[in-house]
Formats: sequence, C-alpha cells, structure tokens
Amino acid sequence: MSAHIPSTNQCRIINFPQRQRIGSNGFCRVTKYRPCRVCRKPDWYGFTADEQTSICMRVSDGSQGTSRNGGNIFHHNRLFLVANPRINRKQAPPPIEIAPIEIRNAVYEELIRRSPAFKYYSELIDGPGGLLSRGLREREIQNCGALPLTHKERASLARTLNKFVKVRFPEYVIRNINPGVIGVPGFWQGETGNVQLWQPRDYNMPLLVMPYRDNQGRIQACQLRLHRNDLRPSEKKYRWLACPFEFRGANSGTPIHFTFKPATLPPGQTVIITEGALKAQISCRSQTESARYRHQRS
Ligand SMILES: [Zn+2]
Repeated sequence: MSAHIPSTNQCRIINFPQRQRIGSNGFCRVTKYRPCRVCRKPDWYGFTADEQTSICMRVSDGSQGTSRNGGNIFHHNRLFLVANPRINRKQAPPPIEIAPIEIRNAVYEELIRRSPAFKYYSELIDGPGGLLSRGLREREIQNCGALPLTHKERASLARTLNKFVKVRFPEYVIRNINPGVIGVPGFWQGETGNVQLWQPRDYNMPLLVMPYRDNQGRIQACQLRLHRNDLRPSEKKYRWLACPFEFRGANSGTPIHFTFKPATLPPGQTVIITEGALKAQISCRSQTESARYRHQRS
C-alpha cells in the first residue's frame, strides 16, 4: 500500500504487518505497527478498514472535516491536493466530550457493584475516620464504591467496565471511535490505547467513591475521598473522579448531588443545601427523621 505523508512532502511506500484491530464498525485503531498516516504517532485514533480515511487528533491543517469526537478527518486520495506541509503543526486535540447520562450512570453503578466500599471494611468503614465514625449507616454505605489501591488493579477494573459498556450499549460503542468507557469522567486512554481509571500512581489505602446523583436519581459524577496517609502536600482530601490528563478523558464538571427526587417532593417540604455528598446524606436522613418524629407526636 502507498501513503502520502503531508509532513514530509514525499510519497513513501510503506508495508505494515497485518496486525490491525478492526472494530465492528470497520474502524481500526492506529498502533505502533500501523501508526497514524498524518502525524506518524502510534496512538490517538485510527483509520477506516479500507485505509482511505484517517482520523487524527493531533494535526488539523489540511483536514477535510471534523469527526463526532472532534478528530480531524483526512481522505487520503485527496490528501495531497489540500494539505500544505509548510503549515502543518502540532495542535492540542480537543477535550473528550462527556458521555451521556445513561452511560455514566450505568458505568458508575457497575463500578460500585463490582468494587463496593464494603470490600474494604477495615480501611474505609469501621476504621478510624471511617464512614461509620462519620455517622453513616451500613445501608447508606452500600451506595458507595471504592477504587483499588494500585494503578494496575484500577486499569483492570477500567477494562472490565469498558467491556460492560460494549455489551450493554453496543450501538453507542459502534457510533463512537473511542473505547466505550472513555467519556465517562475518571476514565482515560494511555499512550498504548489501554483504558485507565484515575491517576497512574499507587496508594496506601483504597479511595472512597461517593456517587453524585441528578434530580432523577442517576449517578452523573462521583467524588473521591482520599485517605490522609495518601495526601500529598497541597492535595485535597475530596476530589472529583475525573480524567487526570487534559485531552485524554472527560471532565466531570461540578454537579449538584440530589438526595431526593424534586418531582416527588411534597409541596412545602424543606430542602437543605449543604456542602459535600456525605454531609448531604446525613443531614437528609436527620431531616426525614425529625419529620417522622413530628408526625408521630401529632
Ligand atoms: Zn495522527
């Protein structure tokens, strides 16, 4: 096969071994064996199975359009006519778009199901500073998850959740050129294309995952609570579960957590706005209890 390389202004003949991963939608990811024809790098997107079209996240000059995820589309039969090698330059790729709420909710629910806070009982729940000492009840702790200590275990969880998206939302995965779990804040793609979860470092203690639900009860984002032994200088104890690298995964934003569904709230009911999901859970419960108490007395 032959390829025109816009950055060198030469025509080269390149033979690649047939080690391409062809997606079910006919889209292949670039690899070190078959790098991007536009920027020559082994990652950050791919090409159609017929090799006629590449999508590159790095180079935009000379592209013939923008893909759904913001990648630059190059049709190789026309590449030479439109690309000017002198103005080619590296450009920061656009940030990854956040996944729809249905996908985020399903992935986070599955994360909490597979890696619940209860798995780390002594570290997160009944230890000093654990959730029970914060006044939470076991039933409420069931809503929380935990991220494993090691980078490797989190990567394994990311792979499992990526497969989960493939099975649960096949049409979404086919439409998207990123792996399914990319776009859910907290997940990102490493240099080799492997999916990752949270920061690439190991911790002493598991990280508590607190779901932030929207006004319909769906998990829209999560917050992490780091153990004090893991806090580096100037690091905050509570963090949003979001991609640690700009342009490699989606940002969570800073949504509001609802402990109730506004649509089912009785008229005249008091709503308390507080800081932090844990505090909200506790003050929500004491509010319900005082309401119940008043009811019993009347
Ligand atoms: Zn490229």
